Amino acid sequence: MTKSKHPETIALHGGDYRKDQATNSVAVPIYRTTSYQFDSTEHAANLFGLKEFGNIYTRIMNPTNDVLEKRISALENGLAAVTVGSGQAASTFAIMNVCQSGDNFISSTDLYGGTVSLFTHTLKKLGIECRYADPSDPANFEKLIDDRTRCFYAETLPNPYLRVFPIKEVSDIGRKYSIPLIMDNTASPVICKPLDHGAAVVVHSLTKFIGGHGTVIGGGIIDGGNFDWTKDPKRQPLFNEPDASYGGVKWGEAVPQLTGANVSFAVRARVCLLRDLGAPLAPDNAWGIIQGLETAPLRMKQHCSNAEKVVDFLKKHKNVTRVIYPTLHEGKIAERSKKYFKGGNGALIGIEVKGGVEAGKKFIEALKMFYHVANIGDARSLAIHPATTTHSQLTEEELLAAGVTPGYVRLSIGIEHSDDIIEDLNQALDASGKPNLKAVS
Ligand code: PLP
Repeated sequence: MTKSKHPETIALHGGDYRKDQATNSVAVPIYRTTSYQFDSTEHAANLFGLKEFGNIYTRIMNPTNDVLEKRISALENGLAAVTVGSGQAASTFAIMNVCQSGDNFISSTDLYGGTVSLFTHTLKKLGIECRYADPSDPANFEKLIDDRTRCFYAETLPNPYLRVFPIKEVSDIGRKYSIPLIMDNTASPVICKPLDHGAAVVVHSLTKFIGGHGTVIGGGIIDGGNFDWTKDPKRQPLFNEPDASYGGVKWGEAVPQLTGANVSFAVRARVCLLRDLGAPLAPDNAWGIIQGLETAPLRMKQHCSNAEKVVDFLKKHKNVTRVIYPTLHEGKIAERSKKYFKGGNGALIGIEVKGGVEAGKKFIEALKMFYHVANIGDARSLAIHPATTTHSQLTEEELLAAGVTPGYVRLSIGIEHSDDIIEDLNQALDASGKPNLKAVS
């Protein structure tokens, strides 16, 4: 067990896992079990009645996942975490943990395309309305609040704009109304800690930088333990009204009484949402993510320093008309990366290749080392053309609102040697400016 606040140490020693209790194994074992033997009928009844905490069934908890949960919670300076089957499940659960039919929440317009589909279409079908606020002015969030607004939602480092979200400014507004801010910190683990700036909950696609090797899909929900769910009972009914699905418990007051910790959000997500909706993270996948997490702080340093070098190179290349990176914005927006990021500005870079869609396509096809994939945050360098792929289900209007122009290419810079990354980009950019061979012959 470590009390260290350094991410490099937390990634290896965070939480209370020192060795496996049964075998003394230092590496975290994979507990491939669905169920756990109860010691007695009283023990079983206590576990189900939340009088005692312990393992019941792997849909709801698992010892391998528990190690990962404690480590990601420590990494984000949170109090508790719940892992789920994907980043999408993490976002879904985070919203459904505070919203029910007839409620609304306010989200930043700068979002991953899959999250837009979830918020605009799927949650709408469940009677939950997403209201979109432009994050360039934090006051836009306040304008959309009404009596049924339950939370704010945003990404710390959203692509394609790559403008860092004003975490403290928006969470301060929310806290005046007992509205928690949920931050998706997928693109900036280690370099940003949203909970330190007032966010109440962090979600992660663990698939990305934390898993880091492009091998496992997973999600995490981290409860900051810094939000009073009982302060305004009308604002947060799911935490203050008796829950008929759990013997009339009021989560906001019961969980701190039972556990001694302000972790009502995490407990409710686990025992209600994982119980009812399923979508747990398989322990094998939790193990894969634990392997990635161990070196995530080290990799983030290399991702970020490579990205800075690539940005310098791209700014000078004749076939690049625009480079998008958190520090290249103007005024207040650029200041946000200084305010919220420590130790780097992330691995994501956007470029406009000179010559629009056709040149963008040629560029992608000419890349030799970069992979052309939908993922971000792999140890390998990746590239994609969002308008025809990740964001292709959005309408033209939604595309432009999301900042996806036709020639935009997203790069996720890996941890290879920076010279090799730049060499590959250079040859592909040169190729993007050359006439089509077929047209010449
Ligand atoms: N949030 C962000 C910022 C993402 O980029 C993604 C996936 O690309 C997700 C959430 C969804 O994560 P997953 O693919 O693990 O479901």
